[in-house]
Amino acid sequence: MELELAYPEQRLEWYWTDNELEIIVNHPELSTKELRELFMPHRTEGAIRNKRHQLGRFFKGTIGTCKRCEERPIWTESAKAKAMGYCKGCYLDEMERRTAEDIRSARFRKREWEARKTEKKLNELQKAKRVHSAAEKAPRKQRA
Ligand SMILES: [Zn+2]
Repeated sequence: MELELAYPEQRLEWYWTDNELEIIVNHPELSTKELRELFMPHRTEGAIRNKRHQLGRFFKGTIGTCKRCEERPIWTESAKAKAMGYCKGCYLDEMERRTAEDIRSARFRKREWEARKTEKKLNELQKAKRVHSAAEKAPRKQRA
């Protein structure tokens, strides 16, 4: 029971509520020290400064809406989508794009690796050929 009580308190410290973010966004004229003293004594000045820096002092979007399309609400059920500030659609678009790019770069790396392997083989063949022809030429040079 004690744990259950302690946990939400901790969460309140860690996660920024929409209300807190709105306060920061709506008061670009206040310093972080003033913001802390007036509205959020439970936050450190550094934390407020970081959050403001992240949002931009003159943030123009709407708190709680997707950073990308600015239409749908942030998908808070997904911790990753929430951290990125994306709605479900934009988050899924982004993840699909990343997966496609990962596949593309893996394909590219494989092709590069194979090219290097072929080049190495060719070099070895040429080296062997040179050694072979040098061995053939050597006796002739001695005769001459
Ligand atoms: Zn979106």
